Amino acid sequence: MANYYITTAIDYANGDPHMGHAFEKIGADVIARYRRLRGDEVRFAIGMDEHGQKVLKEAEREGIEPQAWVDQIATRWSDTWQRLHVSNTDFVRTTDPPHAEAVHNLVRRVQETGDIYLDRYEGYYCDRCEAFRKESELVDGRCAEHPGRDIGWTEEENFFFRLSKYTQPLLDHIAAHPEFIQPVSRRNEILRLLESGLEDISASRSRVSWGVPFPGADGHTVYVWFDALPNYLSVLGFPSEEYENWWPADLHVIGKDITRFHCVIWPAMLMSAGLPLPKTVWAHGFVMISGGKLSKSEAELVNLDSLIDRRGPDAFRYIMMREVPWDSDRNFPSVESFLQQFDACYQADLANDLGNLLNRTVAMVQKYRDGEIPGAGETELDAAADAALGSYMKHMDTLQLHDGLEDVMTIIRRSNGFIDTKAPWALARDPGAADELDAVLGALIRALARTAVALAPFMPVKSAEIWTRLGGADAVPGFDELGDNWPTRLPEKREGVLFPRIEQTRD
Ligand SMILES: [Zn+2]
Repeated sequence: MANYYITTAIDYANGDPHMGHAFEKIGADVIARYRRLRGDEVRFAIGMDEHGQKVLKEAEREGIEPQAWVDQIATRWSDTWQRLHVSNTDFVRTTDPPHAEAVHNLVRRVQETGDIYLDRYEGYYCDRCEAFRKESELVDGRCAEHPGRDIGWTEEENFFFRLSKYTQPLLDHIAAHPEFIQPVSRRNEILRLLESGLEDISASRSRVSWGVPFPGADGHTVYVWFDALPNYLSVLGFPSEEYENWWPADLHVIGKDITRFHCVIWPAMLMSAGLPLPKTVWAHGFVMISGGKLSKSEAELVNLDSLIDRRGPDAFRYIMMREVPWDSDRNFPSVESFLQQFDACYQADLANDLGNLLNRTVAMVQKYRDGEIPGAGETELDAAADAALGSYMKHMDTLQLHDGLEDVMTIIRRSNGFIDTKAPWALARDPGAADELDAVLGALIRALARTAVALAPFMPVKSAEIWTRLGGADAVPGFDELGDNWPTRLPEKREGVLFPRIEQTRD
């Protein structure tokens, strides 16, 4: 049994989680659950980034203490992840006291290396991004993210981090570890960035009070990357035995907009501190509707709560992972087309293909064998389902989650085709075909058992229900245990429909 440590980006304590945040958490949760079914011990951290001027201003506007403000936000986000059955083992917050200790420890190590120096910063600073902006980054003299606002000029004394020193070490690391940045498109972007050279970056701010104090410098707080990124260490209690057990992380799951932080700044900080680098950073793409430009009423239609309510949390998880590739973007031209596709995916895959297969199979075993599941030999369906499951595991091991789901659908479609070809109802009328009917029914239950296990990372609750309806004992077994755990008898209790069909209405 191996240890597997996976993280997502921590979310900025601002507003409510939306579909994009959920996509990232679901994808990471699918990986975490898959690793557990493979037999790994999994540590899975998500959390909140709770410092910065913007948080302070929001709290002041609401008239409450900043800590009370971020407490409320953290509860809302954490509740949402529970509602979506996200199985994180940790929920880290940058206002947790152990976080400041870990940041201090890390900064001190970097100071000891001589990579921190005091200098004067003069330049543009966007309040909204809470980021220094180079002149070359401005668009028409304004922050590219905030074209509607004037950008301020700031002059302050800052500590700087010698990021420039790590250009070549990072290039060397990426060359020696092609798995470090994935998918390949993101690695190429980072290589281009490194090849153009790196500049030193600010490590502190002198005018932001809501943050972790910079060690040995009154009035300074650590700047965003030295505050947020070490959450991956602080959640392990760094420096500690727990840290020794779990670091380096096996996988940082992040959005493609923050690759520079995670593939350049973070590894440089770790190199400077003399700590091992995470094994892989996976930058997923974005799911977008109308290119991200939605009116208020449109945004209301696709807010996260209403999308989860639409077909339930497990179906939402399935549809997101099925419709949006884990390694690239998906843009829907309009809210209407998005919701149409959302329902079409539910209807075709879950209500029709999977729902039908389960209902038909269970009904036939009940009717022809009185609920007793025949254990008879291997069929061509077993061979096809095993091959698809093998392909599924290859895809899941390489984080091609959407391809993994296509493999599951292959098992389901082959099974439905098998029913149509074998026509068990005809075999049941022929007393000489009893053995063949046994073989067909047994193979169908085993294909559904494989489906339940393969879907478990994507739909933890529904797949457990499938497993129970097949008469499977206890929880859905791991991949290695499935062969010794085939269901032998349907349960006495007959349940309702697992995925109710969407009734077509005409108006
Ligand atoms: Zn900005």
